[in-house]
Amino acid sequence: MQGTMMDFPLTLAHVLGRAGQLFGATEIVSRLPDKSLHRQRYADFHRRAKALGAALQKLGLKKGDRVATLMWNHYAHLEAYFGIPCAGGVLHTLNLRLHPDDIAYIANHAGDRFLIVDDVLLPLLEKFSAQVKFERVIVVPLTGAAVPQGCDDYEQLLAAAPAFVQPALDENDAAGMCYTSGTTGKPKGVVYTHRSIVLHALATATVDVLGLSNRDSLCPVVPMFHVNAWGLPFSAAMTGAKLAFPGPHLDAVNLLDLCQDERVTLSAGVPTIWMGMLQALQKEPKRWKLQNNLRMVCGGAAAPESMIRAFDQFGMRVIHGWGMTETSPLGAINFIKRELEGLSPDEEYAVRAKQGVPPPFVELRTMSENGEAPWDGKAMGELQVRGPWVAAGYHELPSETDQWTKDGWFRTGDIAILDQHGYMKIADRIKDLVKSGGEWISSVDLENALVAHPAVLEAAVIAAPHPKWDERPLAVVVLKPGQSATAEALREHLAPLFAKFWLPDAVLFADAIPKTSTGKMLKATLREQYQNYFT
Ligand code: AMP
Repeated sequence: MQGTMMDFPLTLAHVLGRAGQLFGATEIVSRLPDKSLHRQRYADFHRRAKALGAALQKLGLKKGDRVATLMWNHYAHLEAYFGIPCAGGVLHTLNLRLHPDDIAYIANHAGDRFLIVDDVLLPLLEKFSAQVKFERVIVVPLTGAAVPQGCDDYEQLLAAAPAFVQPALDENDAAGMCYTSGTTGKPKGVVYTHRSIVLHALATATVDVLGLSNRDSLCPVVPMFHVNAWGLPFSAAMTGAKLAFPGPHLDAVNLLDLCQDERVTLSAGVPTIWMGMLQALQKEPKRWKLQNNLRMVCGGAAAPESMIRAFDQFGMRVIHGWGMTETSPLGAINFIKRELEGLSPDEEYAVRAKQGVPPPFVELRTMSENGEAPWDGKAMGELQVRGPWVAAGYHELPSETDQWTKDGWFRTGDIAILDQHGYMKIADRIKDLVKSGGEWISSVDLENALVAHPAVLEAAVIAAPHPKWDERPLAVVVLKPGQSATAEALREHLAPLFAKFWLPDAVLFADAIPKTSTGKMLKATLREQYQNYFT
């Protein structure tokens, strides 16, 4: 029997139209490079995104053409998020924290035709412009400075745009692309479709995921060049949530000011951002008046339990989530299920420190050498995932098939544990797991326990080659300014929490932990640095 429903494509054109028609009065606030606040409304966004689409069409944009952005989080980037795909193009966000050679490699590999760039990022573009061939470079005049010769002025382009003609879009048309920020190997491109973005945005907004609503004021700290700011700008336009963009100012004081002044109720970022914010709050606990129960989504790296506890003291709620570029990124989100009501506070914190349960339409499993691992809260296995917003391959890398199983699951490269309630806990990246005398040791668990010590700011635990045990854990610790602790004291702090063989053989101190462009600890660098430590 055939269904009798309309064939209504799931596209961003609908989301843009909805934002303009229903939420025109809602504000979009952006912090500019000079720290002043730029304000517009969804009605302006709707009009300007369509003008951008029309301007690109006038420049010759064809269906499937890639348009790159090199931009911070602000109103014009949001316009690009919709103007490009609604005109049939593919939004390709370039990560401005990468080395210029890598940005050039990625832009060339993606075949980007046009570039939209913030004027304050022109010096960065200069560093790789000889290696790329954008047909047009469109400059967003955030500072009001004159746009260089040979480039288009974004504002003038929009002002002169003809009326926008909405092209027919199929929900499986490409709409966006991001490259993985892998710590090893060449970056790989993931191409999102209208359908995958729309379904992801819808699932993200549901109550047990982020519960994003029209009444929220959302501050996406996660960059719009890091997996589309986790899809939040799309969810915001769908729900008509107010947006407060931090622009280039990601330091704790500017973020806290923005959260206070724009009455932010939901924010999202990596643990490093939240750790910085926590320190600022602890230093001046009375300085900011924030919204009660401000929700802070924390992903990209593990959220330490100690951090979740500390924010609770300020009436702020950390929501732990897990994802990857290949999963759009939402793969798991933490909320306390009804069946867990009545846990003791300590038990509840242990659950909240896990990465969570999959949202609707995402399925998780962990695979060990003996097949699917049981959901028993103990067995570790490789985390595999499938769903309508999970990649089925990489852009123009047809031979890269190792990351998919024959039965259609994506192999994440993470080692995880699933418990009987369906909560997933990441133990490690496969390559970071410490294999000591045939036993596995989770570096993430050790790191989280180390940062719970009051003197510790950051900690990385790596596997260092060992003549007897193959590998042993080695901890590199950064202390908080003005604090002190000895290696012995830190080992004593860990001792009651772990089996003896888990304790790091060495605890070393450093001024900083090297990080990737998206704020993850660069353990490969540390592993190289300490490869001969025990040998
Ligand atoms: P990316 O594609 O750059 O977003 O990196 C994805 C990887 O980040 C995952 O495979 C995990 O290893 C790591 N990751 C993301 N979220 C978390 C989390 N909440 N806890 C631990 N690791 C995470």
